[in-house]
Amino acid sequence: MKHSGKTLLLSSVIDLIDDLIFYKDKHFKYIGCNTAFLNFIGKRTEDLIGKDDFEIFDHNLATLFRKHDKLMLAQGNVRSNEEWVTYPNNKKVYLLTKKIPFVYDGTNIGILGISRDITSLEKANQQLQKQTLLDELTRVKNRKAYNLKIKSLLAVFERYHTPFSIISIDIDDFKNINDNFGHDVGDTVLQNFGALLEKNIRETDHLFRIGGEEFVILSESKTKVDAIKLAEKLRKIVACKALFSDINITISLGICEVTTGDCPNSIAKRVDNLLYEAKSNGKNKVIYHPLG
Ligand code: GH3
Ligand code: MG
Ligand code: MG
Repeated sequence: MKHSGKTLLLSSVIDLIDDLIFYKDKHFKYIGCNTAFLNFIGKRTEDLIGKDDFEIFDHNLATLFRKHDKLMLAQGNVRSNEEWVTYPNNKKVYLLTKKIPFVYDGTNIGILGISRDITSLEKANQQLQKQTLLDELTRVKNRKAYNLKIKSLLAVFERYHTPFSIISIDIDDFKNINDNFGHDVGDTVLQNFGALLEKNIRETDHLFRIGGEEFVILSESKTKVDAIKLAEKLRKIVACKALFSDINITISLGICEVTTGDCPNSIAKRVDNLLYEAKSNGKNKVIYHPLG
């Protein structure tokens, strides 16, 4: 009497829990689960008990679950994993799952699992992650994002020799805009400038604001010749488009292509020299490196 009361209490408790609770035998067949798990997979108890994941879920999902079951059993200890999972009703969720061995029928060892739906937490995390890579003023990717991207492009270049080009852009005489129209107007011009560039580049061209009025485009899979065409196009577009009221600006651009032995610093030095050359040659110019 005492025992069955306790069992009843326990099963009521696990049915009240929002987390998905399930347990499987040593052959990976379901022995039981709580109400939350049944609701989540949209099945009844009798559709679940005695079946394994391959009879319930699609092949990929079942393979994933089986892999984690086996890893946990091999380890013989509690094990956690997090991942995006698409359930049979096409609901996509981010689950934090803990699995632990449990003894049933006296000697057999099965799997007890508890999954928590942490989709909203993961989405908030992703959003936060994205925010840290965006420039607050222009919403263009920032210097941190630039550092990450150039490192990854350099790694791909080292391995596969996939070319990429660097277009460094500096607004000409921007100080005058602030001096003549005020800092707020300067800010708006920067915002509109960023948006104008984004509108005129492709998905494989990545725009970054790396300093006050300095921007860089990393052109994936582009040789210098293609990058020069893009730079010229952008120079012309900017020169003839009012960015706020009747305010026009011009830009100077330096272009180089990645070469063997490059690192982020060597690239920065090369494009800095090119920009310097563009400025001292009268601005509103595209200058490219003769070699790389
Ligand atoms: P140059 O043609 O040689 O590049 O001249 P410049 O005036 O553009 O260059 P300089 O480096 O002398 O000045 C850059 C100016 O950009 C000065 C600075 O106040 C302004 N600036 C930098 N960041 C911002 C910003 O976020 N908002 C505004 N409004 N101005 C900025
Ligand atoms: Mg500058
Ligand atoms: Mg400038």
